[in-house]
Amino acid sequence: MDFVKKHIVEPGSTVGLKTIDTEPDGPFEDKQEAYEFTADTIEKMRELQYRLHVEGKQSLLIVLQAPDAAGKDGVIRKVLGHLNTQGVRTFPFKVPTEIERAHDFLWRIHQCTPGAGQVSIFNRSHYEDVLVVRVEDLVPKSVWSKRYEMINQFELLLAENGTRILKFYLHISPAEQLERFKERLDRPEKHWKLNLGDYDARQQWDAYREAYETAFEKCSTKAAPWFVIPADKKWYRNAAVSAIVCQTLEQMDPQFPEVDVDLDQVRKRYEDELAQLDDDA
Ligand code: AMP
Ligand code: MG
Repeated sequence: MDFVKKHIVEPGSTVGLKTIDTEPDGPFEDKQEAYEFTADTIEKMRELQYRLHVEGKQSLLIVLQAPDAAGKDGVIRKVLGHLNTQGVRTFPFKVPTEIERAHDFLWRIHQCTPGAGQVSIFNRSHYEDVLVVRVEDLVPKSVWSKRYEMINQFELLLAENGTRILKFYLHISPAEQLERFKERLDRPEKHWKLNLGDYDARQQWDAYREAYETAFEKCSTKAAPWFVIPADKKWYRNAAVSAIVCQTLEQMDPQFPEVDVDLDQVRKRYEDELAQLDDDA
């Protein structure tokens, strides 16, 4: 199955999140099949990312956005965490600090974009500045409404500079979210995740949905597409994200650099060393 085609928000199209299922429909017979697919895909992804790193020319930015408990951390742990740590960095974006608030909203983001050969993973992102900021009225509409175009220009700048951008929205249902909140309550090792603010955000579900829909419509571009991933089933979510990352890396087609040493000369040196070792023995 072509996961890119299935989940991409086509640039210029409108999105009704209510009409997009949070449950998968195919292609896996069962969970087990999805696990096997994901494991294979992760292996391919690792190999390609290793080449990307060694090539040192292109870079990849992966943006993760979602309601609480939809699985941003899970995707990082179970999928992207398998990448070679040489060349990958993860950046969580929290409530802006005082110094961050003293700058424009992209200031803290730009410092975390990937350099040549690198992958950056954003756990939340500049999109919070048109999501929570819009829903919670943190700045006037006249301010946040201009940000969509600023974001597009910013992402275009990165793309023109050799960065591929993938933006994932993990699409979870309110019922599944509540189920996961319950799990957090029931399991002591998950208590650190408990947060009353998450329940407040649930009260604003529709406002967030509309804010996300606007962000997808205005900011899914050829240079930086959005993907809506059904996320009620963790095994599908992980399969789809790994497949899309892998397919993108395949397209980027990173190459090992051309060798600029004389292979014959190196081979000769090796043989000399070997002969020396034999002589010494
Ligand atoms: P978490 O990812 O669960 O650790 O929570 C981080 C919190 O930071 C979330 O409630 C976000 O909505 C909030 N946050 C992230 N970026 C911004 C921003 N630009 N403005 C306001 N709140 C933000
Ligand atoms: Mg949270």
